[in-house]
Amino acid sequence: MTEKTRVLIIGSGPAGYTAGIYAGRANLSPIIYEGDQPGGQLTQTTEIENFPGYPEGVQGTQMMEEFRTQALRFGAEIKSRKITRVDFSKRPFVCEDDRGDVIEAETVIISTGASAKYLGLADEEKYRGMGVSACATCDGFFYRKRNVAVVGGGDTACEEALYLSTLAKKVYMIVRKNYLRASDVMKKRVEAKENIQILYNCNTVGLFGEDGVEGAKLVEYKDTPREQVFDIEIDGFFLAIGHRPNTEIFKPYIELDAEGYIKVKGATTHTNVEGVFAAGDCADPRYRQAICAAGTGCRAAMDAEKFLMENAELS
Ligand code: NDP
Repeated sequence: MTEKTRVLIIGSGPAGYTAGIYAGRANLSPIIYEGDQPGGQLTQTTEIENFPGYPEGVQGTQMMEEFRTQALRFGAEIKSRKITRVDFSKRPFVCEDDRGDVIEAETVIISTGASAKYLGLADEEKYRGMGVSACATCDGFFYRKRNVAVVGGGDTACEEALYLSTLAKKVYMIVRKNYLRASDVMKKRVEAKENIQILYNCNTVGLFGEDGVEGAKLVEYKDTPREQVFDIEIDGFFLAIGHRPNTEIFKPYIELDAEGYIKVKGATTHTNVEGVFAAGDCADPRYRQAICAAGTGCRAAMDAEKFLMENAELS
């Protein structure tokens, strides 16, 4: 089956839904492909305290449900499917979804976000779903009154550790430097928690356990004369070491930076391919905030609308 659209939005975080709201209000009847994780990364977090308009905070899932409802209200069509292949070599652009259906789009807004990074240890694969996780809110419940570890020293790691500290008996934070990179407010919160212990200057070299994770092997002061190896007993091992942009399928056509983030032109959302725009975390190595993603989603829809007006012969 081949469908046609004026604006195809790939991805459904704050960027994708906001692009849907703006393109819908511009009467462009956008189609949003939600992908594997409808609502994006915010559906895996707990409370969001820094999105303006929610002075008391809001649950990530609730906020994304509200974004989605608003996009639907203005005429966006939302598909619970994933785009798996694109051909941006000519217009209209041809994209294929995970059921093999084809969609021809006059413009495309890429808002595919980013996914959690892993350390790259073989044991992470071995124990995936058996004690290894990159989402405390999804899996924390299984570790009530047990010991867990969170890897990372940024805001995400602090947030995950704080959440887990309300369920688990003890939470270790495994931090490779001698300081936390997180914001002051988060640092103070984790430092004040009695059942969080921060292990500075530590790297994980392996996990062990019979039928699931029972412990982690750590190295303190790696590659220095003070180096020492020790074990911690844990049932859950949570990764919070940042994210990788979901841009793999666009690589043949779209210019990416060394980390895989989409390069946009100046203060616009234009990519190197005319008619293809990028918004949100997939094009933002610097800020990676929901409010910024929503802002670029708005800009991408406006850029697409202008492009369609200037290239009216396309429709
Ligand atoms: P960050 O990139 O900020 O932090 C990643 C952390 O993981 C760092 O401590 C880093 O260590 C560590 N790390 C990276 N790779 C490895 C590795 N291979 N082994 C061990 N440790 C590693 O990512 P976050 O996801 O925490 O945050 C991303 C952005 O989102 C930030 O801008 C953050 O402020 C924001 N954010 C804001 C929130 C809020 O305001 N409530 C909540 C969550 C995120 P090192 O410091 O040594 O590089």
